[in-house]
Order: sequence, then C-alpha cells, then structure tokens
Amino acid sequence: MRARSPGKGPGPLGAVRKASRPAPLPVTTWIARKRDGGSLDDDAIRALISGAATGRVPDYQLAALLMAIVWRGLSPGELGAWLDAMVASGDRMRLGDVPGVKVDKHSTGGVGDKISLCLAPLVAACGVPVPMMSGRALGHTGGTLDKLESIPGFRTALDPRAFARVLAKAGLVLAGQSARLAPADRILYALRDATATVESIPLIASSILSKKIAEGTDALLMDVKVGRGAFLPERARARELARTLVALGSRAGLRVVALLTAMDQPIGHAIGNACELAEAIDVLRGGGPADTRALTVRFGAEMLILGKRARDLAEGTRKIEAAIGSGAGLEKLRLCVRLQGGDVRVIDEPHRLPVARHEAVIAAGRAGFVTSLDAGALGRAATRLGAGRARKEDRVDPGVGIALHAKQGDAVARGAPLATVRYSESARFEAVRAAIAGSFAVGAQRPRAQPLVLERID
Ligand code: URA
Repeated sequence: MRARSPGKGPGPLGAVRKASRPAPLPVTTWIARKRDGGSLDDDAIRALISGAATGRVPDYQLAALLMAIVWRGLSPGELGAWLDAMVASGDRMRLGDVPGVKVDKHSTGGVGDKISLCLAPLVAACGVPVPMMSGRALGHTGGTLDKLESIPGFRTALDPRAFARVLAKAGLVLAGQSARLAPADRILYALRDATATVESIPLIASSILSKKIAEGTDALLMDVKVGRGAFLPERARARELARTLVALGSRAGLRVVALLTAMDQPIGHAIGNACELAEAIDVLRGGGPADTRALTVRFGAEMLILGKRARDLAEGTRKIEAAIGSGAGLEKLRLCVRLQGGDVRVIDEPHRLPVARHEAVIAAGRAGFVTSLDAGALGRAATRLGAGRARKEDRVDPGVGIALHAKQGDAVARGAPLATVRYSESARFEAVRAAIAGSFAVGAQRPRAQPLVLERID
C-alpha cells in the first residue's frame, strides 16, 4: 500500500551499522495482547502510531492491530493516548493570532448535505471565527471540498499560513486537510478503508478529533447522522459515537457538542456538487428548502453558543436569522470565495456554475404520498452519475446531480415529476434510472413528519 524505503542492511564489511537500525519493536506482542483482550500502555501506543506515520511499523501489522481493535475496542485511557499520538504525528496549526473562540463543524457525512456551505459564512458574520477543514466525497456521501471546487478557481489546498490569513481576514476559511496535519490518520484511514476496519467507534472518534485538534479549533459542533443514508445507520451506534466524541474531546481540551440528525432522506432538494452550492447560496439569500434552512439555523445557534456569542438557542437563532436577513452571511461567503481565488460572480449569477448537458425526468408511477425517500440509494446513484468517486483517483463531475421535486410527506399525482437527473453520459444515467425511481416509495397514507434533530449530546 505504501512505498517503503529499503532497509539499510549490513555495511561494506558485513558489519551492521548500529546507529541506522533502531531496536525492533515488539509489535507482534502488542497485536497479540490486543487480540486477547489486554490493553496497550502509552509507550506502546506512541510507538505504534509514530511507526505508522514513519513507515517503521509495516502495513500488515497495522492492519492486524486495527482488526484486533475493531473486535476488542480501546479503553478510555488507551483511546486518549491513541488520540494524543495521532495529533503528535504531525504539525499543529497555531490560530492564536485570530481573536475569538474558534468553532468548527463536522458531519459524519450525508446525502444532499450542503449545510457547511451556508453555515460557516453565517456563523462568521455573527463574529465567531470558523476554521473549517472539510473532506471529499466518500462512498455514497458528498464532500464539501468537491462542492466548493465547482466554483471556478476556488482553491481548497491552503498551506497553514494561507489558512490562518484567510481566517483572520474573512472570519472563515473553507479548506482541505494539509498533508502535515495528523499524517498517521491518513495512513491508518487508507488501511482501514482497505481492510474493513473503518466501523470502529474509537477509531472513528480519534480519526475525526485528531484532525480537528491539529487544525487548532477551540470547539467543535459534530453532526452525527442517523438513518439509511448515514455512515452509521443505527441510532444506538450513532449515539455511542457522539458520546465518545464529546468525552474524548473534553479529555483533550476540545469542547465538543454533538447533534444526532436524521439522514433517512436527503437534505434539501439538490444532490450533487454545483447544484448543492447553488442551494446553499439560496439559503444565504433567505430562500432554500425548509429543512436546509432549519438545520442551518439550529447548527448556527449552537456554534454561536460554543463561540460565546449567544447565551442560548433563542439568542443564537435570532442572530443567525438576522445574518440571513441582512445579507451579512452572503457577504462573508463572497469575501471567502474571493480570498481563496474563486470566481465571485457565481454568487450572484449561479448560472455560471457548471451544469451537465443532459437532463431526464423521473415520474411517479402512481398517485399518493411519498412515504419514504431512500437517501443511501440516491447517494449511490449520484456517485455513479459522477458526483462522487468509486476510487480515490476518480475525477468528480461538478455539473451532474439529482434535483428532487417531492420529499417525504408530499402529495404526488400519477405522472408528476419526482426528480430531474442531470447527467453527462447516457450509460451512467441508464445504470441508475431504476434505482432513482425505486428510491421513492409512494403510498396512500401521508407519513408522520420526522424531527430533523433527534438528540443533543454534550
Ligand atoms: N471520518 C473520518 O474523518 N474518520 C473516520 O474514521 C470516519 C469518518
């Protein structure tokens, strides 16, 4: 998986050059201890994580260790040491020159989840600096970086100095993780992806928080998704992850509040990259779908409390709504796009955003109410159209996507449009047409409305 430098080997006369050969680590002993339900001490954990980052511990041993952790877990003490070692594997950003309590938001990944794009400018407009380090599309879920890159010229790769400069000037920065932050996480994540060891709560929590702590944020709002389109669909597992994130963050000096939110159906009406950005801009203009607006306002209010700019949810809500009404949030996005090299004209003229050449409408086969809308199926369909990646090296097509015309609870007539699909390649559309149609269930009874925010954990 990784290129390894060849070992130094014996010197010219066959003598081993001692200085170039560190003593071998007892990695098999540590793996066996974890496998058998024992625990690892801090020194072992430090050696394993730094060995992952430097290549001293080979991938096959790391993979075995990760599988043992999936089965046996990590105790709170082990997990704390694991997180500290992950952070220490790379650089830490210093954002101390930027005044105020800095607050980031991270989502475990959803379908149609464009909330970060409207949330960060609104929170910044209310005086809380937002250093937002986002990710790319992963599996069936979209990525904030891919959505931002549908703006011509927008740079998501910023070095630490540029990251801090944009944050200081605009009050927000929207960028990707630099290679020097928590490098052990990148290596372990790639191995986990290839060895079916992603689904471990301690590994997920330490992976997320290592990047946030290295980024230098003071507080973090976690959006932990639950439901068919979520990375951890079951509520009990999502709750366990949320509790682990809050406790682990607190131990490391990072204030974390987690919200469990519904991800059975996509957020808003747009699924894709450019189309989701356009929908987020609509929210900043005071429009946009009701669920997208409601989540943005709630998350914003929580972030203002974390950033000490609101005493409670009522005050936070008022401030975020005022920043939408005055256009202050839209101005923040405009400034951020300009500072990060993007074409600001797309903000007032969204038709400048890329749009795929072809479109097709999926119509309802019967009249009734939409009883459910499968977010996971729609996310997988959007990925196959080109909005996400099957392999890491795939290029994302910014103009493809799915526009939903009906959501759960809406009444539809027979033959009424359920979705418009934008595509670049007919073969890709034909491959997903049935899945998109099948993701809508239409029945005689209007289903009960589900809450968007299911639980708050702090
Ligand atoms: N996101 C991360 O950053 N890490 C994980 O382990 C899972 C999701």
